[in-house]
Amino acid sequence: MLKIDNLHAEIDGKPILKGLTLTVNAGEVHAIMGPNGAGKSTLGYVLGGRPGYDVTEGSVTFDGADLLEMEPHERAAAGVFLGFQYPVEIPGVSNVQFLREALNAQRKGRDEKPLSGGEFLKLARAQADLLSMDHDMLKRPVNVGFSGGEKKRNEMVQMGIVDPKFAILDETDSGLDIDALRIVGDGINRIMRRPDKAVLLITHYQRLLDYVKPDFVHVLADGRITRSGGAELAHELEAQGYGAVAA
Ligand code: ADP
Ligand code: MG
Ligand code: MG
Repeated sequence: MLKIDNLHAEIDGKPILKGLTLTVNAGEVHAIMGPNGAGKSTLGYVLGGRPGYDVTEGSVTFDGADLLEMEPHERAAAGVFLGFQYPVEIPGVSNVQFLREALNAQRKGRDEKPLSGGEFLKLARAQADLLSMDHDMLKRPVNVGFSGGEKKRNEMVQMGIVDPKFAILDETDSGLDIDALRIVGDGINRIMRRPDKAVLLITHYQRLLDYVKPDFVHVLADGRITRSGGAELAHELEAQGYGAVAA
């Protein structure tokens, strides 16, 4: 599904990704772990198409197409979802307005007809219920005044609504208490753990991986993958630290 080959990327002329190679097949969950500043979020932004992240070498294909040639909205329409480490607040725009716009823009990109307000609200409420999110949160401005955990939960509602094929989730577990962690983990499994989908799960901690069991764990250090293994690698990292395991 996703093939990253010798990817180099820089921000403001500063090299961040330095030859990253990774293949993700349908049906797989890959966890990316690694020290602060290693380039994990940068990888997510490059895959999502955020401006300011310049690819200087290498390639990324998604379902055989050149992902790097696609505009961010084309990537979304193709089924790529990026969950942010720091979800943005959008004052003045309600969550339902935002989510409906996002979904209908993607449907348009796939030549599907837009959902009406009523159809959309039904879908949004059902997804909110599945994540134990209060319906009132749907009416509030996007993420404004949401706690860290509520933002992450809201992001999972968004993911449930757009139903992506490939999700990059950047520290979706940060700031979650134990109950929220389980709810978010269940959400990821329910929405994404399917033979035709795949997930790149960026996390610092083993605990999320107790809920969302990865097929592969990779260490990203200094802009490249320095070690790969199975789920046991996450336990090894937790016990010994990045320095000892994959400097
Ligand atoms: P991680 O998510 O692994 O903690 P990031 O991808 O966020 O790491 O950052 C990788 C490196 O890129 C860090 O050294 C960080 O300071 C730098 N960096 C990130 N964003 C910017 C930016 N907008 N301008 C300059 N440097 C940046
Ligand atoms: Mg970080
Ligand atoms: Mg980060």
